[in-house]
Amino acid sequence: MVETTKETEGGCFCDAVRYTIIGPPDFSTHCHCRSCQRAVGTAFASWVGVQSENFKVTRGQIKICNTHGVERGFCGNCGTSLTYVAEKEWPGVVSILAPTLDDPGFATPGAHVYTEHQLPWIKLDDGLPQYEQFT
Ligand SMILES: [Zn+2]
Ligand SMILES: [Zn+2]
Repeated sequence: MVETTKETEGGCFCDAVRYTIIGPPDFSTHCHCRSCQRAVGTAFASWVGVQSENFKVTRGQIKICNTHGVERGFCGNCGTSLTYVAEKEWPGVVSILAPTLDDPGFATPGAHVYTEHQLPWIKLDDGLPQYEQFT
């Protein structure tokens, strides 16, 4: 049997930025932290994480906003949030916003993290573990 390495594609809303993930994701979580809420503009952000060598930008360029050592990547044209890199906390890992994948169901999130910031009008009953923080 030949193992083929599956490639999964995604991109921003205007298609100026396209990317490819090689292989399965290392993790997938819903993050409720205030930073994700503000940066992404959503109640919580659903991430898939891969090793940085398994993430390739195939069209355009991701713009980076660096705050406190965290690099959040987005499309400079349409503003779609795309990536999160925190080299100190998560060396060698790129997190990608799952809804920007062509197949957003590619990875099933395994937990809710930073639920200490969960918005009062979000009610969770999907049975996933919930962590007030993420350590
Ligand atoms: Zn775009
Ligand atoms: Zn977050």
